[in-house]
Amino acid sequence: MAKITNIRCIRTRHNRSWTIVKVETDQDGLYGIGSASDIYQPSAVEKIIEELFTPLLIGRDVSQIEDIWQTMYTSSYWRNGATLHTAISGIDMALWDIKGKEAGMPVYQLLGGQARSEVKVYAHADGKSYEQLEEEVERYREAGYSYIRCQLGGYGGGGFTQGTQSVFPPAASFDEDVYVQAIPQMFEKLRVKYGMDLKFTHDVHEHLNPASAIILAKRLDPYQLYFLEDLLQVEHTAWYERVRTVSVTPQAVGELFIHPQEWLPLVQNRLIDFVRMRVSKVGGITACRKIAAVCEAFGVRTAWQEGGENDPVNQVAAAHLDMAIWNFGIQESNHFNEAEREAFPGMATIRGGALHLSGLPGLGIDIDEEKAVLLGAPAEGKPYHNPYRLDRRLDGTLVRP
Ligand code: MG
Repeated sequence: MAKITNIRCIRTRHNRSWTIVKVETDQDGLYGIGSASDIYQPSAVEKIIEELFTPLLIGRDVSQIEDIWQTMYTSSYWRNGATLHTAISGIDMALWDIKGKEAGMPVYQLLGGQARSEVKVYAHADGKSYEQLEEEVERYREAGYSYIRCQLGGYGGGGFTQGTQSVFPPAASFDEDVYVQAIPQMFEKLRVKYGMDLKFTHDVHEHLNPASAIILAKRLDPYQLYFLEDLLQVEHTAWYERVRTVSVTPQAVGELFIHPQEWLPLVQNRLIDFVRMRVSKVGGITACRKIAAVCEAFGVRTAWQEGGENDPVNQVAAAHLDMAIWNFGIQESNHFNEAEREAFPGMATIRGGALHLSGLPGLGIDIDEEKAVLLGAPAEGKPYHNPYRLDRRLDGTLVRP
């Protein structure tokens, strides 16, 4: 059996915001890669992998994925934290990659095999005006997408006015009363234009107070969304019980979830319809296949989080799960440029609104380290810093993202 000889973090893309983990073994040419990207705290994740996990795991048998996962999970006593679980995820994915390469099979075959013809993805359409948004929707429709997320003015869009605060750093002002009017009007126009031909979603991005969230969910019912995403802040998920009593709009939640107790009550009480954790944030393939199995028992489907900051290794890890689990709902899409595609040979591709894996053994994706270096580097001597963009209410109060 192959043994772990070294674990390395390869930081790439602009400002080194992607962290790719490479688990090397004592077998000639046998290694695996995984995603441990955290755009906000990349150095913290890297330190956990280098200083905690690498000494712990060198010499371990690569085949023991479950035991290695539990070892990492309990390695620092306090567990279920965002940075710890990102580090766990990177190594977990790399071990699945190795297992697939050893078996000569794509990882989805090891997870139960193909359960659907293709992995449908949803596109991100956005516009400063309704007209701009409709152009985007049209562009994706022509490219073959049948599922499209529609935003007016970005996340929590449709409720922005000109920022006026002087005592705080500049930020967009968000008026939730404007927002809960604008978004139903947007979907009214889209349904008039497209009928039921397209499946629409919308991401609230937690911008609303519970009272406004409930009003929005109710107002959106006539437009039959595929789902409404992150209607409530993670601190206020108990309000989903109230949402259920007034609205039939399907709810998708969870891109911030790490701890099982964050999603388990929502799933077991059938208060949501889709879970949306990011595979590389919640514990990798090992964690997500278990989450999916629990959700299957309660009729809840998956919609693993993706989006612009994610790396292509996380995307393929999600796609292998999507191929094999029965209760797959939809996959969020992500796009990469030509240089990124060359640095990550075997990257999944989107055709006809669906994600296609390379078919190669393991995760089916590799990293060309020389080309990856060229994707970007930090400015010399400047600390890496990428704070989340925050909006403010009309009185200047911070809006939770
Ligand atoms: Mg979201």
